[in-house]
Amino acid sequence: LLRPALDLAEIEARLDAVAWLKAETIARAKLREILRRALDVERLLARVTLGTANPRDLLGLGKTLDLIPALKPLLARSAAARLLEVEAAMDPCGDVRDRILSAIADQPPANLADGGVIRAGYSAELDELRNLANNSRQIIAAIEQRERERTGIASLKVRFNNVFGFYIEISKANLHLAPPDYDRKQTLVNAERFTTPELKELESKVLDAEDKMQALEREIFAEVRQFASGQAQRIRAAGHAMAEADFFASLAEVAAARRYTRPRFSDRGEMKAAASRHPVIEKLVEREAQRFIPNDVFLNRAESRIALITGPNMGGKSTYLRQAALLSVMAQCGSFVPADDALLPLVDRVFTRIGASDNIARGRSTFMVEMTETAAILNTATASSLIVLDEIGRGTSTYDGLALAWAVIEYIHARTGALTLFATHYHELTELAGRLEGLRNLHVSVKESGDSVIFLRRVEPGAAERSFGIEVARLAGLPPEVIERAKQILSLHEKSEHTVSDELNPPKRSRGGPGLQIQLFEPVGYQIAERIRSLDIDNLRPVEALQILHDLKEELKR
Ligand code: ADP
Repeated sequence: LLRPALDLAEIEARLDAVAWLKAETIARAKLREILRRALDVERLLARVTLGTANPRDLLGLGKTLDLIPALKPLLARSAAARLLEVEAAMDPCGDVRDRILSAIADQPPANLADGGVIRAGYSAELDELRNLANNSRQIIAAIEQRERERTGIASLKVRFNNVFGFYIEISKANLHLAPPDYDRKQTLVNAERFTTPELKELESKVLDAEDKMQALEREIFAEVRQFASGQAQRIRAAGHAMAEADFFASLAEVAAARRYTRPRFSDRGEMKAAASRHPVIEKLVEREAQRFIPNDVFLNRAESRIALITGPNMGGKSTYLRQAALLSVMAQCGSFVPADDALLPLVDRVFTRIGASDNIARGRSTFMVEMTETAAILNTATASSLIVLDEIGRGTSTYDGLALAWAVIEYIHARTGALTLFATHYHELTELAGRLEGLRNLHVSVKESGDSVIFLRRVEPGAAERSFGIEVARLAGLPPEVIERAKQILSLHEKSEHTVSDELNPPKRSRGGPGLQIQLFEPVGYQIAERIRSLDIDNLRPVEALQILHDLKEELKR
């Protein structure tokens, strides 16, 4: 209905509508109270035009149209041009409404065949037939009474079924009391059923009336449905206008209830949100009687078009990323946003790569899906886009992943130029801040307390000190033995680690040639390198050197 707009005038018109309704508390409450009773016009109309609408559908449509006269004056007072347009577009479709409400009974059955769909007084012919059918019930009761007295059989019944029509039923025990004018019709185990000329006559009259009544109800109903169907275009427009009113009133309601603020748009493509929140997580967190920690978002073309966010799992990185993207989407829909103040860029699209949604069923691994999505982003995003990347390169080996993430960031920085938020566990990426003038490091803060971490959920400038993976794993309940062993392995590994920048830059202090590759990428290489380092070349005979070289080569094969 109202998709995010790219046109500032359109967005501002929507925001004006929301702003007016936010301020006009009473009008908004009335509007919402009335709209709560409205049904989905579009859906009902589809059934009307397809000829599948049942009596309740049609009545629902009539009742929904009947709400319009009360909605219009509320909107007509508005200072917002968009709400006046909505009011003007809200055709009450009085002819359709009157036809439906006068023809359909108050509580019609869902099924047309059950009868009683058409309101009394709508068709004289139908009313007459109904009278006859109702009277027949009284006539039957009278016959039953009379025959009981005549025969002296207190249990005698006059009944109807679809096979035999009207009949008189007498139990076997009373059979000897049956008068001679009774015509035997059917024998049951305990009873005998009879008919009389009088019953036969009544039967044909009543059945006739029932048939006619049904046919007439169908006919009238089809006629009313047809009439509504003929006005589908007007009804659809009215329904659309009601939906728009609902849209604006709902946005105004959340804006008021959740303390949202009206976004402004930056003509320099800046994003500057003060104390912004994630609209959904905020509610979830509050439900658990906790507080959502607001965070600022700041991106600009010059020194901060890419924000690289590091910090531990559960630190709040994904939340922060999504919240920034949601600010943009909500604002461009015409909604107020969850922030104390928001200056936003007008973005052409929001690109996200969030969560690894597995697609094995369709034959694509997590990694493949991730890369396909990343490819789509790099190939389509423009300088006016907002890109939100939640970790890239997770589904492959660490160094593959790191290399890809590194290259992707460089590409976005140099080519795409889009405002970008990038969350990562690859600590090495934080070195990019020293190499790319438009990239800034951010981190989600934690407080260390002994062996554990406390998440502060505050996004702060600078890179995270480290990733706290093992601490978080402990919180998750991994066995202490696994945690201890992981720590050992980590410290071993860290001894062999050095920065990626050293590799990418021509080495400032020569630390050896391309052989360092081994050190960086495989822990096993660490020992080999250590042995090479410890060789005393001045005191090595050529044949010994050859032997050592041979041994090292063998070792590498393992
Ligand atoms: P990460 O992406 O760093 O692993 P998430 O963004 O998934 O972390 O956040 C983990 C959980 O922390 C969320 O489900 C939410 O309950 C909580 N959380 C995140 N951000 C905040 C915040 N700003 N204030 C309060 N709680 C938060």
